Amino acid sequence: MKLIKKRIRHAESRIPLKFKIWLYFIIFTVIVFALLWVFQIFFLERFYKGMAYRSAMKSMDTIVESYENDYKNGYKTLFYKTLSSVAGENEQCISILDKFGRPVTQEHILGKCIIHDRNNKNRELIDNIDMDDDGVIKGPMINPYTNKEMLICGCRIGTASNTQGYLLINSTLEPVGATVNIIKRQLMIITGVLVIMAFVISLYLAKRIAMPIDRITKSAERLAKGDFSTKFDGRGYLEAKKLADTLTYAEKELSRVDTMQRDLIANVSHDLRTPLTMLKAYAEMIRDLSGDNPVKRNEHLEIIISETDRLALLVNDMLDLSKLESGKQKLTPSEFGISGKLGEIIERFKGLSEKNGYHIMFTPDEERIVYCDVVKIEQVIYNLINNALNYTGEDKKVFVRQINKEDGVLVEIEDTGDGIEEDKIKLIFDKYYRSENHKREVVGTGLGLSIVKAVLKMHNFDYGVRSTLGKGSTFWFKIRNVKKNSE
Ligand code: ADP
Repeated sequence: MKLIKKRIRHAESRIPLKFKIWLYFIIFTVIVFALLWVFQIFFLERFYKGMAYRSAMKSMDTIVESYENDYKNGYKTLFYKTLSSVAGENEQCISILDKFGRPVTQEHILGKCIIHDRNNKNRELIDNIDMDDDGVIKGPMINPYTNKEMLICGCRIGTASNTQGYLLINSTLEPVGATVNIIKRQLMIITGVLVIMAFVISLYLAKRIAMPIDRITKSAERLAKGDFSTKFDGRGYLEAKKLADTLTYAEKELSRVDTMQRDLIANVSHDLRTPLTMLKAYAEMIRDLSGDNPVKRNEHLEIIISETDRLALLVNDMLDLSKLESGKQKLTPSEFGISGKLGEIIERFKGLSEKNGYHIMFTPDEERIVYCDVVKIEQVIYNLINNALNYTGEDKKVFVRQINKEDGVLVEIEDTGDGIEEDKIKLIFDKYYRSENHKREVVGTGLGLSIVKAVLKMHNFDYGVRSTLGKGSTFWFKIRNVKKNSE
């Protein structure tokens, strides 16, 4: 069963939309016409008979009522008037019989009727009325003279124990065959015309509906081949426009990622080539020149070691980010004091930075115990301070602030550099993004902020950057209050 369903789905997915829309439209038309035919041809006779029955029963009620209200109270003329008006309006023959079945009065307006015929079967009808529990009969009868079906209804006047008379009504049942034939012919013509119209209209509609999708698909195929200048034309209707907009957005993103990845390869290979060239050059120097001179040799070895560190930094960043982003790394939260931790990290930077004239100003708040992955948050702080040192201005100052809030601890790292342009701000947290005016002396991989973003997102901490061109930037994140064991 599942296999069949799968096959049907598979087959369905190969049917073009155009054909499907057309098919549904045609099916709809066929159903509408089938219903029309069934109701017109097959039910027409039933409807007609039902109506004739209902009309006869209504006449019977009116007459019995008038008998009770008028005739019995002496208003006989009124009763006879009702009788003749009912008979005239509904084209019915009416007979009132006494309790022995003898005619009392009658309205005979049809040419030939059964109840007023000489060989009438009124006695039989009265017997049937007497035998019926409710004292009412109705049904078709064949008129022996015309051989046509007629409708006979009858009821008792008075009650079963006190029968005062009987009422018989005879109405015609026009044969509907002829009418049906006319309708059939008419329907045939209408059906023919409308089916052709439906065919043409549905073909046109299907084409119109499918057109934007066909057009967008063609553009998407061009995009798949790597043409990022493809335009998506979503004219036609809302869904097509949405699809076109989405694809345009996807195209923009793909193009961005493509450029970024190309930049990355350029950056990484550049970053790799420089230390590798240095490594080779200094190794050769030690081999050929300074091998016997311990002072020179050590100097060269120092350079080799620092270049190796640089290489390791790059590789580590790449590994860290790929691990973070693959989702394989889990958080291992623990409790620690944030002021202490910030101080500790700044202390680590100091030796190196103060040698080069950099100053890190730390403004701690009251010590607060936070609960998060200490190693990863340390890396965030480290990357942000490192960037601030790299990009800060001539005064070589960097400010680190801890601001305790009710719902967490805000950490701000401010520099006095060039700042970041408004449109670049949302890009800098992207992988491999490095501004064009990237200073070569700044050691960076374009991954630092991506790592920051990945870690803070994993923790669900808010983060961001405020920047004024020419004045500097402030990167911030907020360690939310999370209770131990409540994660
Ligand atoms: P990088 O290794 O290039 O510093 P990051 O991911 O850390 O990579 O930063 C991405 C880019 O964001 C940088 O190339 C730089 O243009 C910009 N940026 C980061 N921090 C700062 C800052 N404090 N001031 C100005 N620009 C910054």
